[in-house]
Amino acid sequence: MARPITLITGASRGIGAATARLLARQGHDLALNYRHDGAAAEVLAEELRSLGARALCVAADVGEPAQVEVLFARIDAELGRLSGLVNNAGVVAPAAPVAEMAPERIERVLRINVLGSFLCAQQAVRRMSRARGGAGGAIVNVSSRAAQLGAPGVYVDYAASKGAIDSFTLGLAKEVIGEGIRVNGVRPGIIATDIHASGGMAGAPLAAALAAVPSGRIGKPEEVAEAIAWLLSPAASYTVGAMLDVAGGR
Ligand code: NAP
Repeated sequence: MARPITLITGASRGIGAATARLLARQGHDLALNYRHDGAAAEVLAEELRSLGARALCVAADVGEPAQVEVLFARIDAELGRLSGLVNNAGVVAPAAPVAEMAPERIERVLRINVLGSFLCAQQAVRRMSRARGGAGGAIVNVSSRAAQLGAPGVYVDYAASKGAIDSFTLGLAKEVIGEGIRVNGVRPGIIATDIHASGGMAGAPLAAALAAVPSGRIGKPEEVAEAIAWLLSPAASYTVGAMLDVAGGR
């Protein structure tokens, strides 16, 4: 059996890196996309190679159409026919009420989180679709519990971007299942990654949000990776357009 070839966007750290490690152990070859931290991506790639996977690191801002085209062209040339996509790259901005959000901030969050996921899914569908000569595949979009909680006073722009991802997942899933492509999503809760320090919910807002987690603890990136890997796998063959909450009951 050919090894699956899977692209993970935003794979240099956090949930993306944990997913790469798990998929490599499950027999995938991997394209690791990142934006800035090429050194971290290369260290991860070496680790995956030691597990027997092929690993290709590609810098690209997923919110820039020309860079996304180059990302997929490199996968075509250096890895082969894509069979899986994890739309994981995402950003938050520092906590702020909606009334104080600069237009540039809102545009950036929507461009990376929403446009980026659309652009990568477009390229993936063109390669996977049986109607276009492909061999089928699976896409997992990484949303957030914030999509349904709204994140008031903290990052409503981010929550709205993830709400868009939920609708996108449902619509695309129905659009392409007849072409052999399964599309699903995960909604992580509060997960221990650097995203909190890089913006949004550091400090007091994070502590307050954690107090409302029924499981009583923060989640691990590896726990989200398990859900993503299952949705990508043939074990999820009849799961289409689903959103799986990985949020400790929040
Ligand atoms: P993270 O630790 O901040 O990592 C983000 C990754 O995305 C990094 O590899 C970063 O690469 C990459 N990235 C950022 N902007 C990019 C761009 N424009 N193009 C390509 N790559 C880009 O984040 P995380 O917590 O693992 O989050 C991963 C996903 O889970 C995101 O979609 C996030 O919204 C979602 N999520 C996270 C949580 C949580 O609590 N952690 C909860 C719900 C949902 P560089 O470092 O190279 O820039």
